Amino acid sequence: MTSKLYPLIGLPTTKFTRPDNGLDYYFSYHRIVSAIVHAGGVPVLIPTDMPDEDTRALYETVDGLLLPGGGDVDPQFYGAERHGATQTPDLSRDVLELKLVRWAVDDDLPLLGICRGNQVVNVALGGTLTQDIPSEVQTPIKHDMPNRPLERVLRAHEVQVQPESHLARILQGTRFPVNSLHHQAIQQPAPGVNVTAHADDGVIEALEVPNKRFAVSVQWHPEDLYLDDSAMQRLFQAFIEAARQQHWERVFGRVDERTA
Ligand code: MN
Repeated sequence: MTSKLYPLIGLPTTKFTRPDNGLDYYFSYHRIVSAIVHAGGVPVLIPTDMPDEDTRALYETVDGLLLPGGGDVDPQFYGAERHGATQTPDLSRDVLELKLVRWAVDDDLPLLGICRGNQVVNVALGGTLTQDIPSEVQTPIKHDMPNRPLERVLRAHEVQVQPESHLARILQGTRFPVNSLHHQAIQQPAPGVNVTAHADDGVIEALEVPNKRFAVSVQWHPEDLYLDDSAMQRLFQAFIEAARQQHWERVFGRVDERTA
């Protein structure tokens, strides 16, 4: 059987202005793009700053949504004043991603959040963030490793995964070493969202929306561990498989509708 169904994975982008010529680009981290492709998906760029109906039209063509890492969410979206260590917000990216998460959760579209994506899921659904772990949390763990190639593949700490979670079933275990490139974290989890992993200092490291086809988010960067870590490969594969199922049902209808 060589025929394949390649699900389309919506990938919100970040706008970047080239300093040498002032031209604007939409970019995406190469390992996110590669992991989607390697797991059998087709990445679809979702630009910021589009008219709402264009964003909606693009959203309606995709079979899954991947929220990648990036800068800090503007604290206005969870009702907080900006902490001194919180980065300058990218408002158009915040607005885009918060909207996409709410649509995806409402529609049961498969959703994978990574790092900032984990935080965007929480804020979109009504939760809050700790704005700066180093100044607000007493911990021996360094969660905010420098964002450099060596540190991105470094296992900075372990996470304990809730045994009954979707995440534990996907990863096939409850304890894993992970990388850690975040200075913010989930503070108050959103209503109806389950916390599914912690670091040993209590910092929340994963969330999921229960009773969904796939609505999982993690605080670490599985795309940087992907090549030599079978558990992280299973995370992407399970996400793409859920999107493939979504694609199948979008084209042919749900099984219960077809047999009714
Ligand atoms: Mn961490």
